[in-house]
Amino acid sequence: MPTRKFADEEVVMGRWPGSVLYYEVQVVNYDDRTHLYTVKYKDGTELQLKESDMRSVSSFRFRKSSSSSASPSRRSGSRSRSRSPGRPAKHKRRSTCRSREPKNDTKNMIGEPNLIPLKLHENNTNQYNGEPDITEVVNSSRNILERQRIGSDLEIDRMLERYSLHSRKEKRQDIYSEEIHFETPKPVGKICMKTKELEFGGKIGAFFMIFLLPAAVFYLLLMCKQKDPSVLNSPPSLPAFESLWETRVFGVFLLWFFLQALFYLLPVGKVVEGVPLLNGVRLEYRINGFYAFILTSAAVAISLYFEMELYYLHDHFLQFAVCATVFSVVLSIYLYVRSLKAPEHELSSGGNSGNIIYDFFMGRELNPRIGNFDLKYFCELRPGLIGWVVINFSMLLTEMKVQHQNTPSLSMILVNSFQLLYVMDALWNEEAILTTMDITHDGFGFMLAFGDLVWVPFLYSLQAFYLVNHPNEICWSTAFAIVALNILGYCIFRGANSQKNAFRRNPKDPKLAHLKVIPTATGKNLLVSGWWGMVRHPNYLGDIIMALAWSLPCGFHHILPYFYVIYFTGLLIHRETRDERQCKKKYGLAWEKYCQRVRYRIFPYIY
Ligand code: NDP
Repeated sequence: MPTRKFADEEVVMGRWPGSVLYYEVQVVNYDDRTHLYTVKYKDGTELQLKESDMRSVSSFRFRKSSSSSASPSRRSGSRSRSRSPGRPAKHKRRSTCRSREPKNDTKNMIGEPNLIPLKLHENNTNQYNGEPDITEVVNSSRNILERQRIGSDLEIDRMLERYSLHSRKEKRQDIYSEEIHFETPKPVGKICMKTKELEFGGKIGAFFMIFLLPAAVFYLLLMCKQKDPSVLNSPPSLPAFESLWETRVFGVFLLWFFLQALFYLLPVGKVVEGVPLLNGVRLEYRINGFYAFILTSAAVAISLYFEMELYYLHDHFLQFAVCATVFSVVLSIYLYVRSLKAPEHELSSGGNSGNIIYDFFMGRELNPRIGNFDLKYFCELRPGLIGWVVINFSMLLTEMKVQHQNTPSLSMILVNSFQLLYVMDALWNEEAILTTMDITHDGFGFMLAFGDLVWVPFLYSLQAFYLVNHPNEICWSTAFAIVALNILGYCIFRGANSQKNAFRRNPKDPKLAHLKVIPTATGKNLLVSGWWGMVRHPNYLGDIIMALAWSLPCGFHHILPYFYVIYFTGLLIHRETRDERQCKKKYGLAWEKYCQRVRYRIFPYIY
């Protein structure tokens, strides 16, 4: 029978995952099977920790005031209080105190981390896994005295170097501009979390989404086939079931899927590490999406050369959508079943509620892999995204045939080019997907499987599908205006995503040295200038602007081709609130500071 060191409700010091900092936590319970404690931080965050990441409070030495020149807040004893990541601003006495520092203090100053870590007793430091203790880095007015206490400037300098904490040589006006770099998070062992806060309307919402999402796809595709695709018309009648299924179409779909899988497995392109997961592990990913795109283009060119009719795709569009839906359902069932055997620490924090419907929808396993084949990463960018371009191209050819034109219409060219640029950009910058929510947070279940394999290729191509039977002529000046809008959206979208990706990959990248950051307790910093200082999700803003540019070539006769921009705006607003919630949990007080500093979420001065 395993013994446990800490009792329920006991207050102890718990290590914040991925960092070397310890905070006061209360033991909620202990799992005899996994030997993990569920603990609650002061900001309400609940995590599971190993016993080795917990210490008794008495084993920590709380810093005492060491000087008569200590700041008022220090005299009042506030230093001895630990801070959880989400401690409310009203407790931020040290910042207040620091703002009173004389501005002409030319002595070397050291940036103060926002959260005060506590230090283990010297005789306990050998239990500290040899990891750095940054307790000695204190605010500017105390540093000179600290230096005397420690003994020599040399020692301080060594320490600064060791913890990458730079001297603040220049007077800085802005609290956010402190250059504080934390160590890269180290593996802290197994961490798993039960999902308590359910998203998408919880179990009932997830249940309905499983049916509503496919229904929406078929409704929109059927509407688009109508001569008058007004949404005010009564819904088109359902085609006979037999007409929706064709084994040959399913064969073509499987061929497509496995051809993309083959391209994915080709040993070309570099292998990179993803961002550290919550348990510190970094998975490896092969970056060869763009090669897959080139090979696919060559395959399409060859098929055209041999006069294979790409109209087949348009003519069997509904059947293809049915096949992709069936495939994504089967894949989701497989993913759910295999997740039941997955180790707890490989489960996603958002899809582990214990409710079968909810977890099936959200995805239990974070990064399901068959050997090195990462199923989620593959589905995110390959079959659906490249498929979308091929579908668009087939619509372009069909339009020429149906409308008896020698060249495609300007509207169709714009839609195809814009979306081709978007897909090529995603594949060219494939590495950037490794820092997105889909990869780092969301499990792989029905939501992503259906989204990647059905929603993206069959609904994102709605404008091209619409134009085949509902041509819309536009003049050159209108076309230029739409192109300009798309370029604007693209610059914002690409600039923001690249900046965050570069920063997450290497926070010390000299090219990003000019950017201001907010340090957080997890060891990661938050950008607070550049694109990420404009709004909290500049990449969403750029994406929405582009979405509008993709719909405009279809004219204003019907709302159907605007489905994408309307739905996408809703999706990104919802996604932003989800991300906001997660970031608040992850970064606590630092995130609140970021929100104070960057007030608007997506649209400057509006939202
Ligand atoms: P983001 O790429 O915006 O990732 C959000 C994460 O970025 C946060 O969880 C946080 O993670 C990090 N972050 C947030 N703020 C900051 C900051 N100030 N400084 C540094 N890091 C920060 O989200 P998505 O994954 O949702 O989107 C990625 C792209 O994909 C976007 O351009 C989006 O528009 C697009 N997209 C497209 C879809 C489509 O269907 N076409 C669907 C969904 C998204 P951490 O701190 O842990 O790194």
